[in-house]
Amino acid sequence: MSEYLAKTKLEKMKTREVCFPAEDLWELQCFLLEEAENLLGPRDPSFTIYQPVYSPEVGPNIRFNENKSGVFVELHKNATCYWPTLVYQMAHETIHLLDPRPGPSTCLEEAFAVEFSLFMQNKLGHSMYMPSGKYYEVWRLMHLLGRHPFVVGKRIRENCETFHTNDLRKMIKLFPHIRLLDKSILPELISEF
Ligand SMILES: [Zn+2]
Repeated sequence: MSEYLAKTKLEKMKTREVCFPAEDLWELQCFLLEEAENLLGPRDPSFTIYQPVYSPEVGPNIRFNENKSGVFVELHKNATCYWPTLVYQMAHETIHLLDPRPGPSTCLEEAFAVEFSLFMQNKLGHSMYMPSGKYYEVWRLMHLLGRHPFVVGKRIRENCETFHTNDLRKMIKLFPHIRLLDKSILPELISEF
């Protein structure tokens, strides 16, 4: 899908007042994945990404299929008809699709999910849902790693493979200045969220 086509489609989705149909969700998912890979490097190709679904009870989160070979985004039902909520949720979850893992993610991955969600909300032209609570805290810590978050994120994925890294030594080598600032920042970022 070309960026032009994606944008035209997204313009249409923005103005629609009824619920977003399945094919639109898929188109948005492909667009967001492409953007995320451009900024943060390629996703793990061993997983198949499936069509996002609305969940009546839970979400937003990612869910694996039965044999764990594929994964998809489960959206909360409040994203059904409201474009800004849809972008906010799906962009965040898209970062969890890059290197999918069952169970809790790391603070580092959540921080980049927040960053990418804010970036896409801004890019697609609406007011942003700002992070709060622990999401805000890990996002703030991640920003201390460098001035350009996506450059920082790409370096981490290139050197440590995923945002699930628990390799403190590699992280210290990548970001030596952080140790001087505060020794607890890197351990906190690679810890479970
Ligand atoms: Zn998340």
